[in-house]
Amino acid sequence: MKLPRRPTPARRERAAEILARLARLYPDADCALRHESPLELLVATILSAQCTDARVNLVTPALFARCRTAEDYATIPTDELEGLIRSTGFFRNKAKSIRGLGRALVEQHDGQVPESLAELVALPGVGRKTANVVLGNAFGKDEGVVVDTHVGRLARRLGWTKHDDPVKVERDLMVLVPREGWTVLAHRLILHGRAICLARKPRCERCVLSDVCPSSRV
Ligand code: SF4
Repeated sequence: MKLPRRPTPARRERAAEILARLARLYPDADCALRHESPLELLVATILSAQCTDARVNLVTPALFARCRTAEDYATIPTDELEGLIRSTGFFRNKAKSIRGLGRALVEQHDGQVPESLAELVALPGVGRKTANVVLGNAFGKDEGVVVDTHVGRLARRLGWTKHDDPVKVERDLMVLVPREGWTVLAHRLILHGRAICLARKPRCERCVLSDVCPSSRV
């Protein structure tokens, strides 16, 4: 990925201050999707599209008990899989992706989840965001920044990007934040976006960033 020009020292300093405050506020920020393996996280992340993490966490215990390997996902009957994931929405498309994913993992990767961005995004139903979730949280590799709706909104409000396109937002964050902080950055922005910097009505009066945020309303 071609990165934009390095931000000025002043911008980097301000970002570092914001990151330090968020780190104090959310010291244990982590992946909200319950999983015990890269395969489980990959499937949970596909299920989380247009769905809350809490809802996915209700569905995955039964799914993971039924499907323990990539081959299980490749061979589970479509109607059974659809029944297990129905409440996450868009269940037909998701079932198709997950079965295709299982087949691709068996045929191309010996049933294992690959550890590179290029191999992950080549799998059915896996985009850059899902690949970054798996690389960062299952393999401990900071290859990129997960940009969901909360991360994009906060990055814009904090003045870290002007873009709406998640790939461009990600590029701006990657030059602003040190690499070892990329994975946890997304977790902290998501928590702050859910608790304080709400989409419709940000609670600036309760926000620890109100004196350094260019979008503050107080
Ligand atoms: S000051 Fe307001 S707009 Fe800025 S991060 Fe906090 S809640 Fe969001």
